[in-house]
Amino acid sequence: MATNKYVGVETEYGIAVDGPREVNPVLASSLVVGAYRGAGDRDVRWDHTDEHPMRDARGYETPDAHEPVTDDELGLANTVLTNGARFYVDHAHPEYATPECANARDLVVWDKAGERILEDAARLAATTLPPGHRVLVHKNNTDGKGAAYGTHENYLVPREVPFGRLTRQLQPFFLSRLLYVGAGRLGSEFSGLDVPFQLSQRADFFEVEVGLETTLKRPLMNTRDEPHADPERYRRLHVINGDANLCEVATYLKVGTMLLVLDLIEDEALPEPPAIHRPVQAFHAISHDLTARVTLSTEDGRRVTPLELQWHYYEAAVRYVKEQGRADGHAIDVLERWEAVLTTAEADPRRLAGRVDWATKLELLEQYRERHGLDWDHDRLKMVDLQYHDVRRDKGLYQRLAARGRVERLVSEAEIQAAMATPPTDTRAWFRGECLRRFPDQVVAAGWDSLIFDVGRDALQRVPMMEPGRGTREHVGDLLDRVEDAAALIEALSG
Ligand code: ATP
Ligand code: MG
Ligand code: MG
Repeated sequence: MATNKYVGVETEYGIAVDGPREVNPVLASSLVVGAYRGAGDRDVRWDHTDEHPMRDARGYETPDAHEPVTDDELGLANTVLTNGARFYVDHAHPEYATPECANARDLVVWDKAGERILEDAARLAATTLPPGHRVLVHKNNTDGKGAAYGTHENYLVPREVPFGRLTRQLQPFFLSRLLYVGAGRLGSEFSGLDVPFQLSQRADFFEVEVGLETTLKRPLMNTRDEPHADPERYRRLHVINGDANLCEVATYLKVGTMLLVLDLIEDEALPEPPAIHRPVQAFHAISHDLTARVTLSTEDGRRVTPLELQWHYYEAAVRYVKEQGRADGHAIDVLERWEAVLTTAEADPRRLAGRVDWATKLELLEQYRERHGLDWDHDRLKMVDLQYHDVRRDKGLYQRLAARGRVERLVSEAEIQAAMATPPTDTRAWFRGECLRRFPDQVVAAGWDSLIFDVGRDALQRVPMMEPGRGTREHVGDLLDRVEDAAALIEALSG
């Protein structure tokens, strides 16, 4: 029986300032992050426990001179929100990292809340600039001029699952899931290739199979090992090969299928998938093919298509859920939507419009191209491609389709609005968010696995949260209701 899985998704948003003055992206990102403050949201120091496992509260107060200089020491904005998310500046982009979620549907809700937060933040940031400036924020992964930025999925997996098994069994999955994970883009980063449009924003930027880097020599499988949790028990699998999605169905499947496949791998319930020959090249080839019928060579000399690979995982998952007798509605719902998307892709992948981003965007581009008689490489099409990702609800092309009911929705706007300020109830994000809401002045630093309080004692008080599944409303709701301030909370926790 597989352990409970948790997931969080980080998105680096594209940013540009439009107006008379040149504003560099680091400054623009800082303005955006700094401009957004709901009640209780706090600009705090980030607690890098993974780098300093032995650091105590005192040490935190007076950092040792040999510590590496990190972004927050340079004064870049880093905010922890009452919804349990982290909103900060990373690599000259504003980044929203969702709180830890216990299922794919919640992840969709808190990921969408991030879009709304960026929309508000960009508007507020513009008011801090001289008149005539607009701050444009895009939920995408490439500026179309040779730069890519990331969307990382993070999954909690038990440490005892061998990393080699994860790598081997996930690789064909990562390649083939582009069918629904791809956010689509015009053209290719490879000069001389005739690719008018491809499935993935990021595939072209991947160069190696396995590695530690995330911004150069990008690997299909990232070995970063910072669990933000008890390192003896857990690994945080850091998945960097996916795209940022606007379609709710795409985000839901991206995360929902991974949660299932990880359970299968943990329980050794996945029949060995074929090893793909030259996987990085295969990743590019899948992205460049809009038919889902490109054939890939396997190491044992067979040919498979991305769809066949996906069915391999899907069928194993169906069997697994049935055998486990899982009464869990989440798994059943993911399986149903997964099957529907694969069946549609089999008939005609373009009919995925309204559910997956690349097909939705491609349909818009085709319509625009026909209406105006444009070639595929026309600059106006590039504008349409970019505008698809604009987070503003009255300007972004995805957002406008959503408002007109032209894409499939899974969650309500009311849920999204609520999630901008409140955390999921069933992960440690609940404790983080609630402490910020209740004791905003006493939380001085935070990390995924800790909160640091100043309750007027000599030393700052560090509350570790090494279990992503603890600190839920069920676990600590009564306690938080009982204590009148943070000092009483610390007292109760140390008692
Ligand atoms: P970078 O931006 O350099 O890639 P990073 O990957 O360490 O940094 P953050 O940007 O801080 O991390 O975001 C971490 C994400 O992982 C968040 O969305 C959070 O909800 C999620 N997360 C944190 N701890 C865990 C965990 N133990 N298991 C799964 N997800 C986690
Ligand atoms: Mg990050
Ligand atoms: Mg990351």
